[in-house]
Amino acid sequence: MKKEILIATHNAHKKEEIQQILGEKFKVTSLTDYDIHDEIVEDGHTFHANALIKAQYCFNKTGKPSLGDDSGLVVDALDGRPGIYSARYAGNHDFSKNMAKVLAELKDQQNRKAYFVTVMCLVDESGENYFEGRVYGDLTQEIRGEQGFGYDPIFVPDHYQMTFAEMKAEDKNKISHRKKAIEKFLDFMK
Ligand code: IMP
Repeated sequence: MKKEILIATHNAHKKEEIQQILGEKFKVTSLTDYDIHDEIVEDGHTFHANALIKAQYCFNKTGKPSLGDDSGLVVDALDGRPGIYSARYAGNHDFSKNMAKVLAELKDQQNRKAYFVTVMCLVDESGENYFEGRVYGDLTQEIRGEQGFGYDPIFVPDHYQMTFAEMKAEDKNKISHRKKAIEKFLDFMK
């Protein structure tokens, strides 16, 4: 029988991406499949805490092995901000405002080092397991590129000249924080 993994999301794209990576031995489901529409309050102070809140919530509701994730941008010169507040740093899911705020805060700043991080948490009968992926790089002076989402137009990964938003999605996805976290999760599931 296929092993089920419930992903703490309504995002069909995220579900499909993980299904493809895990392959046929697994059946990936989402909150939509369980008709769970409660708001899960992510009030943790770390990426780990927020990933756990989502996974634990789903596991408590369904008893199925559940995967939660939390991601964000961590900027060296801003003491780690926007961090867990990445999605709503200046305006809720307003990518332009959020990027503008980060660039304004980094005005005249030489140190432009930053990284994206994804933390995934799997909760099942045996407890919690975490999988973390990071991609390091530098922030630009201005917005460049149209692909992707979030802070992609101001992030240049190490060893590249292009921002994530100037790269093809498939190229970004080969080196991204999310990809690295999923790979660790896959290794664990094997
Ligand atoms: P989430 O936890 O995956 O929903 O990510 C939270 C926020 O972090 C997003 O709304 C984006 O602002 C930012 N973020 C996470 N991953 C990426 C990425 O791959 N590119 C750009 N921004 C990202």
